[in-house]
Amino acid sequence: MDTATPTRRCNLCNTEYPENGEFFYKNASKGNGLNTTCKKCQLKSSRHRYEKIKAAMKGTNSSKSIPDPAVVNRSKDAFSALYGLQRDT
Ligand SMILES: [Zn+2]
Repeated sequence: MDTATPTRRCNLCNTEYPENGEFFYKNASKGNGLNTTCKKCQLKSSRHRYEKIKAAMKGTNSSKSIPDPAVVNRSKDAFSALYGLQRDT
């Protein structure tokens, strides 16, 4: 019996999944309230971003006991840029 479950193709891995909250995160800004990227891809991309930030932060320490303020500043900027944060201090 085919119950005609609506499916949705992830725009990153091109895999079709049942169109529900089990495979796609909800996104109120999308037409039917679900993301166009599957959960797996979304997790992967957010983890990738996290690793990139971690690497950037680690690179700034370079086995010095006292961090160079200029380098620390640069890493903060990189961090903000990655997260799209705006520092209004
Ligand atoms: Zn996917």
